[in-house]
Amino acid sequence: MSVTIRTVNPATGQPLAEYEAWDAVRIETAVARAHAAARAWALVPVTERAARARHLAKTLREHKDSLARLAVTEMGKPVGEAEGEVEKSALTADYYAGHGPGILADERVDIEGADAWVAHEPVGLVLAVMPWNFPLWQVMRCAIPSLVAGNGILLKHASNVTGTALALQDLFVEAGFPEDLVTALVIADEDVPDVTARLIEDDRVAAVTLTGSNRAGAAVGSAAGRAAKKSVLELGGSDAFVVLDDADVETAAEAAVKARFTNSGQSCVCAKRFIVDASVADAFTAAFVAGVEALHIGDPRARDTRIGPLARPDLRSSIQRQVEESVAAGARLLTGGTPLPGDGFFYRPTVLADTGPGMPAFDEETFGPLAALTVAQDDEDAVRLANATAYGLGLSVWTADPGRGAALARRITSGAAFVNAIVASDPRLPFGGTKRSGYGRELAAAGIREFTNTRAYWIS
Ligand code: NDP
Repeated sequence: MSVTIRTVNPATGQPLAEYEAWDAVRIETAVARAHAAARAWALVPVTERAARARHLAKTLREHKDSLARLAVTEMGKPVGEAEGEVEKSALTADYYAGHGPGILADERVDIEGADAWVAHEPVGLVLAVMPWNFPLWQVMRCAIPSLVAGNGILLKHASNVTGTALALQDLFVEAGFPEDLVTALVIADEDVPDVTARLIEDDRVAAVTLTGSNRAGAAVGSAAGRAAKKSVLELGGSDAFVVLDDADVETAAEAAVKARFTNSGQSCVCAKRFIVDASVADAFTAAFVAGVEALHIGDPRARDTRIGPLARPDLRSSIQRQVEESVAAGARLLTGGTPLPGDGFFYRPTVLADTGPGMPAFDEETFGPLAALTVAQDDEDAVRLANATAYGLGLSVWTADPGRGAALARRITSGAAFVNAIVASDPRLPFGGTKRSGYGRELAAAGIREFTNTRAYWIS
């Protein structure tokens, strides 16, 4: 019996579209074709692969409006941010079009009596399990470098953004990549764990990358371990935003609002825990709460909307639970703390003060419009609190003395550290986590080399 995937507009709660989930035969046909396409693509010279990435950038920009509209309707992203996602994807395609061939070039090694070099060759077909929160960007962030490296992509996108997955598959073909090189698999939710585990075991799949929850990451990482295959896991975060005693409080508070509430709070690198020196805590809190209360919440299609709905009702329920349990454990609700009435999955931008270890708002990843404030007695205390998490993705430190900020950052474990700036991914810098935030890197040179065979040549 066939299963239907139904997508829903989270701003209205109304159905959007229906897709027939694939059965085992259709999956097998798609994998066979994708594998053949990847084998052929690996023989295409890297300069030609890079040229297609250049064309992809142009194609993305040409389709900016329709792609952005898909993200708005399928997961409720405010339209300006959705357009930004398309633009960032295009910039990344331009980056790898320009830098990919150089990064992948053979490296000569000086060995007496031999002609020796290191090559970075394609691995084959990469399974990409992707989330809904940046439905365009997350796919592009892993697909563009993989394709320029000479690999193919089997895309298992989140089911609530199936329309985006299929549109991206078409976009790659329009940009000049071969048919079947990027294949969007349409899998019913209940089949996802089994199907992905089987694909990871399949000899035709060379490696797997996942962005998503720790639960899904553990399933995919253990399947990859059993099959002795390379995996990259980009999981959750509970990034600290540390405000030192000499920081410009107004500037820090303004940045803090942006850092927490971008994408309606649904980003792994959103700042989540605001650790503020006691001497500036009152001033920072007042400016921060005023900024949060000024955020316009509503229709994600409207240009002045800063906070859209959460992507699914269960994600809103999670935030509500985290707020309630944190308040019960002693946190103080400064603003928000309730859903918006109506059919959409909106939740009021929320700030909790007096949070700390032992509370969900501090210990768990909060994936929505919820900020947790904590007062630190001094720098030492700020380092202790920032490190008091299972996660280690990004870090942002605010201070009048950048050297002091960088020195403090070195004592806090994370995959990226920003001083007087908000954590953000950038194609020129590697992106990824430490601790429970995962392993492996995306973007920059490290990202494109993750899924290559670093191969030694010795010719006597
Ligand atoms: P999931 O991790 O469930 O979804 C991410 C992707 O993994 C989806 O494509 C999903 O498919 C797939 N998936 C789920 N379970 C498995 C499995 N056992 N094996 C293989 N693939 C799987 O995240 P949710 O959407 O449920 O979000 C829950 C929480 O995860 C969020 O609240 C947030 O804390 C975190 N998260 C972090 C993200 C990040 O950017 N690091 C992104 C998204 C979520 P399907 O949609 O079909 O279930």
